[in-house]
Order: sequence, then structure tokens, then C-alpha cells
Amino acid sequence: MRIANLNGRLSVVRSLDGTDTAFDVHTASRGRFGSDPQAVYEDWDAFTAWASSADWTGGTPIDPGDLGSPAPRPRQVFAVGLNYRAHADESGYDAPDAEPPWFTKFASSITGPRGDIALPAGGHTDWEVELVAVIGRRVHRVRAEDALSHVAGYAVGQDISERVLQMAATPPQFSLGKSFPRFGPIGPWLVTLDDLDDPDDLELGCAVNGETVQSARTKELIFSVPSLISKLSSTLPLLPGDVVFTGTPSGVGLGRVPQRWLQPGDELVSWIEGIGEMRHRFVAG
Ligand code: ZN
Repeated sequence: MRIANLNGRLSVVRSLDGTDTAFDVHTASRGRFGSDPQAVYEDWDAFTAWASSADWTGGTPIDPGDLGSPAPRPRQVFAVGLNYRAHADESGYDAPDAEPPWFTKFASSITGPRGDIALPAGGHTDWEVELVAVIGRRVHRVRAEDALSHVAGYAVGQDISERVLQMAATPPQFSLGKSFPRFGPIGPWLVTLDDLDDPDDLELGCAVNGETVQSARTKELIFSVPSLISKLSSTLPLLPGDVVFTGTPSGVGLGRVPQRWLQPGDELVSWIEGIGEMRHRFVAG
């Protein structure tokens, strides 16, 4: 199942004759479920049970420009650094073995899969395509083998990062440099894990102006999604609708020789196999 935020309303996306078609959940459920995309995770088990047998009529073809984040207002946003070996190498760090480095993207940075993103003046703004997991059921102290039952689904994420601010303090302040407005796009929708051929091995990548700059597979994650959730949940509870950015593969601008940063007018396309793609244009801030 695919869950979308269409003009701020919770929708289920189905393919009809090859066209992605949205069904408004509040209407289709006759008010049983509200229209707020963030609220559905509080009632996730009841929602998925209803959706699996709902009568889907009256859908409308999707205009991608109307899509927002499928988790627009998470209470907690977790992100992890250096979770692909080749990215740790290009960053000049040893790959983590026991514990990955955690940080947050502050929730006001979350945005949808389309539109413009302003480049901070004087900054060095970089791309980081990432698999994003959204929590569907509160989870605290869970074993890795049980972790995925608490995940609502996966989406494409970009951990947009302004490197000057990120590196301006000692130790680096990852969270602030990665939290300018719209620096946390998520989309194009949420895909439940039963809809993915192999949720543990998805090709992901991104391109700047048509040139592929990152391409990898999620099976290369050092800490898998179940491992990340198990580790986080050993410290604190993960709440319904929380977002986990799972780390970026190699190919970021920071790791290039010479280094490369996003420029006004650049178009960034980000994708994950079986989920979909996001498209953003960068403009002068
Ligand atoms: Zn990242």
C-alpha cells in the first residue's frame, strides 16, 4: 500500500491502468479516519486493517506537485551518519562498528517531494539521498528481529546538508547544518514493506541536472533498519509517525575532488527502487 499527503490530506495511492490515482481516506472511510496524514500513524493498525478491505472508488489522478511529506510533523526525527562504508571512506572516517553517530534534523526542516529549496547565502549545500523509515507503532526496547513490525513503511529522503555551518563548531554540529527550511524532503509517498519485493535490498540514488551522483543498494547499510530501530529504542521510545533517516551512500559533494556544491538552478532528482522519486530545484536564498 502507498500512503500519500495530497494537498495536506491523507490519501491512498493505487495504480489504475498505469496511472497513480489518489483516494481520499477521510471520504472513503466515511469519516472513520481523519484527513491529517500525520495522525494516521496513531491509529496505524486499525487503518491498515480497514484499508486492506476498503472499497476504492472515486479516485483522482495525482499531480505530483500536490504531494507533501507522508509524515509532515513527526515529533522526533532521527538521523545517522557514516552508515555506508564507501561514504565513511570518502568522509575520512573509520566506519562505525559498535554504535553509529546519531543526530537529528529538526522537525521544521521536513518538506515534501517537490518544489524549490533555498540555498543559504555563503553556504556549501550538499545532497544526501537516504532511505527513510516511518514508525507505525510505539516501540521501546525492541530486539532487531522484532523491529520491522513497528515500521509503517519506507520513503525516499534527502538529508540536505549545509557543510559550512555543519563544520563551524567543534565537534561538528550536524543537526543545525542539516535543518534549514525544507532541508528534509520526504516522499513521494510512504510504501508499506509488504509492497516491496525485497525491503532489505533497494537501489537508491540521486542525480544533479541529470548526472547520477549517488547510486548504491540498501543491503550495503552497515546498520540495517531493524538494527537502527533496535539500537535507538534501547535508549528511548520511538513514537508513531517518527522519522528515521538511515544514512547516505557515497557520492556526496563533500567527498568529491574537487568538492561540489548545489548551485541556484540545479535540479536534484532522488529515487529508491520500488518507492518512487522526488524532484527539487535549488534557488538563491
Ligand atoms: Zn545523512
